[in-house]
Amino acid sequence: MPKYIFVTGGVVSSLGKGLTSGAIGLLLERHGLRVRLQKFDPYINLDPGTMNPYQHGEVYVTEDGAETDLDLGHYERFTNARINRDSNYTTGKIYNSVITKEREGVYLGSTVQVVPHITDEIKSSIERVASDDVDVVISEIGGTVGDIESLPFLEAIRQFGLEKGRDKVMYIHLTLLPYLTASGEVKTKPTQHSVGRLREIGILPDMLICRTEMPITQELRRKIGLFCNVAVSSVIEEKNVDFSIYEVPVMLKRERVDELILKHFGIPYSEADLSEWQVMLEALRAPTCETEVTIVGKYIELTDAYKSIYEALTHAGIANQARVRFRRVQAQDVERDGVDRHLAGAKAILVPGGFGDRGIEGKIEAIRFAREHGIPYFGICLGMQCMCIELARNVLGLEGAHSTEFNPATRHPVISLLEEQQKVVRKGGTMRLGAYPCRILQGSRAAEAYAREVIHERHRHRYEFNNAFRDDFAAAGVRFSGVSPDGSLVEIVELADHPWFLGCQFHPEFKSKPVQPHPLFREFVRASLEYAAKGGRKDAMSEEAVLNLRK
Ligand code: GLN
Repeated sequence: MPKYIFVTGGVVSSLGKGLTSGAIGLLLERHGLRVRLQKFDPYINLDPGTMNPYQHGEVYVTEDGAETDLDLGHYERFTNARINRDSNYTTGKIYNSVITKEREGVYLGSTVQVVPHITDEIKSSIERVASDDVDVVISEIGGTVGDIESLPFLEAIRQFGLEKGRDKVMYIHLTLLPYLTASGEVKTKPTQHSVGRLREIGILPDMLICRTEMPITQELRRKIGLFCNVAVSSVIEEKNVDFSIYEVPVMLKRERVDELILKHFGIPYSEADLSEWQVMLEALRAPTCETEVTIVGKYIELTDAYKSIYEALTHAGIANQARVRFRRVQAQDVERDGVDRHLAGAKAILVPGGFGDRGIEGKIEAIRFAREHGIPYFGICLGMQCMCIELARNVLGLEGAHSTEFNPATRHPVISLLEEQQKVVRKGGTMRLGAYPCRILQGSRAAEAYAREVIHERHRHRYEFNNAFRDDFAAAGVRFSGVSPDGSLVEIVELADHPWFLGCQFHPEFKSKPVQPHPLFREFVRASLEYAAKGGRKDAMSEEAVLNLRK
């Protein structure tokens, strides 16, 4: 019989519930438990796929093609849990399913209500991930206790505890202990209020995880325990991390979180083996060299917009024993000020995925700069498409070449709408989504990285390299080093005559883990270290080579 952990949040949002849930998942896996993780989001959109990054940060794509919350990225980076479309439910998705059933006549004769119909639907979404091969389900409730929107979810998990029995269900509440510099004190009142709200709903937390800047004393733990009706030993300190989010599992283990969870569920405890994770942390803590990756994008001021990319670059650093720093460049600034101003001294350039034409010319200029100076370049999704536009315009001499996403009337549409997308009008969940196989060309940079013939990577796009231009590109020295198994779709493009210049139509960042860095990111960072070691700008594609290609 699976056990269930519910993670709620109090006081403020952005406390790191996703990270903490992922870290708990990792600890439980190290005890040999099979874990599933799940997130409930109280907003009404069916999924975050139609929101912009200012609203939501990155849209994380699962293997089975669901567009989901970025917390699922944490789950996958920390654990080996199976993550799919059942791992993320929004209020909209729950209501959609209830309303569909109502139309089908499933509730014939009844008035359909929040309790019990919506709460039943929430409970069945929890059960849905609790298959026979699962020992513990961790469900995170998005938002903050006290929000109107999260009430049905809290009511559902309250009922769930009552139905399953308290020894099968555990409530963990993540809260904030603000530190007031003026009085030099850590304050507990907001936490007391937040737990008070939970108790009004009928949920008694079994554990409080307190986010804090300052260490919390035993006396403070006692006070929190007393006022919040939680055992002192279950008042947990989660301090701000020193250097990496990947320290969190180790911190929670030090606070004996895993031991307390196992005890709650009556599972015998023995020390968990975190050695692989510790080795990874050591590499992260004490790198032997350093490089900097310049990311040229549209949502550069938001760290959450390209979350998985930053993480994957950090993982690649671990693989190369290198510290990877980020230089974040707004693509529009490149347009305004010229490339030199923002990209001088760049050791590696990455253009991430995206939509809409803001900053496109700046991205193309940045790619040209990388190509002409032999700087390692990695283009992801839109970054690959911009790379093809750059090559078309500046190497093949196709003036005005573009993607039909940005210029439908271009004479040289090197990127065009996927055939399957031509009749699509609805926006939500209709892109080419999720994992597809891709055949790797032997002898290519891609093959060097993957050392595999067939790979599976996740997609999220409507546009694609236009096959009408394949021969021209190939004649100009472009290698199509990854294609769909039937050869019809270009998935990886690279330049043979350059130290590392590669674009992929998929999003490799979603599959990178700290203990399993993604091969393309690993090789990109390695190329950057080599480039820097050579003093930069050396192996550039010479003007002469470009002229030869144009002939
Ligand atoms: N806008 C491009 C497309 O739809 C790229 C998408 C992306 O980068 N995820 O194909």
